[in-house]
Amino acid sequence: MIFPLGIMRTSNALVCAGFLKRGAIFAVCLFVFCEWFIYYMVILQCSWPVFTIEEHAKSSEPLRTMLLTDTHLLGSKDGHWFDKLRREWQMERAFQTAVSYFKPDVIFLLGDLFDEGMKCSDERKNPVKNLHEQTKALTGTQTHKLEWNKYIQRFHKMFRHSTRTKFYVVVGNHDIGFHYEASGDQHLFQRFSAEFDSPSVKLLNIRGNLFVLVNSIALQGDECSMCSEAMTQLMNVANKLNCHRERSSKKVYEDVIKKEKKTCDLPKDSPAPILIQHFPLYRRNEVRCTGVDAPPDEEKRSKNREKWEVVSKEMSQKLLSLLRPRLVLSGHTHHGCYLLHDDGTPEMTIPSFSWRNRNNPSFVLSVISPEKFALSKCFIPRESTVIAVYIIGGIVFVVMNFGLTYTSLRTRRKFNSCVR
Ligand SMILES: [Zn+2]
Repeated sequence: MIFPLGIMRTSNALVCAGFLKRGAIFAVCLFVFCEWFIYYMVILQCSWPVFTIEEHAKSSEPLRTMLLTDTHLLGSKDGHWFDKLRREWQMERAFQTAVSYFKPDVIFLLGDLFDEGMKCSDERKNPVKNLHEQTKALTGTQTHKLEWNKYIQRFHKMFRHSTRTKFYVVVGNHDIGFHYEASGDQHLFQRFSAEFDSPSVKLLNIRGNLFVLVNSIALQGDECSMCSEAMTQLMNVANKLNCHRERSSKKVYEDVIKKEKKTCDLPKDSPAPILIQHFPLYRRNEVRCTGVDAPPDEEKRSKNREKWEVVSKEMSQKLLSLLRPRLVLSGHTHHGCYLLHDDGTPEMTIPSFSWRNRNNPSFVLSVISPEKFALSKCFIPRESTVIAVYIIGGIVFVVMNFGLTYTSLRTRRKFNSCVR
């Protein structure tokens, strides 16, 4: 009798080890599928927009651009740690998958990089007056200093990219607060601007394509120093852009202009710029928005508040008339939107890149040349799909184990009756 019982115990142990092994392999496969593979499966279905180059323009290689917005990295105050872990992993995987596959020349992030940028402390907000206080408050000061630094480090880790890819950001209201906060504490914009080399207005010339990046929080039109500085910079950029247009429209004064020796910084055949900012330009509501991820009908009709959801009507007209952009790109609403303004200027509002803000986040791929541009939207996996795969996988796992346990018990019963 001793020999058969020994065999039975060994058999049970083998069955148990088999369960554990199969369970571990299944769990690892499910995890790898949901956390890595699914990103490739979904994102690789997207492609660069079709873009044909005319013969005369073949000398300049078109610019491949990736655009995303509203990443809203959580800080230390709001949100649950699991929310932060889950959504930041989702954004990091989606971004890294897209960047490694599409290899864009330039990436633009259209603001609200952080969710708590305006609440996040640094050492300036906790001034230490003397050596005694310095020693006493050393730990606290380091903590606060680390808070902003850690935020920045996490951002750079998540959105790491090769050195050949240029990366630009514009500021959003969650990075420095809305105007009432940002104008009250100028340090909020200064530290953001210093970290990301992001002044209130920035003119970029990349392979002959012009981009104007604007701090739309500073478009309040009042006398606050951030707003005044932004307007001065905006006028400087507008003068550069309109230099040739001004000269050609003032032919009668050609002699005067020659005497002034006014030269233009930009080549005469420069294209109209592409305006990039966080707030969309003024639109009364979202009714005219088109696109698969446009706001739902019940939200479309609610009126947009100037300077909160959109730039004020007056400042929007000013931007359009000063810059005369060929395309406007914006974020902030977390929904998609494509529309034409009254003067025919197209605007694309890009939805949030984070599962925190929508179930189906996306980014935009754009091919741009001085003559034209083309846009395509790329979706990343839906959060509901990933959750469904986990649930179905869990059910399959439980059913599979139940089946195997049942088979094993039946085998044991048969074996026991044979031994008796
Ligand atoms: Zn925003």
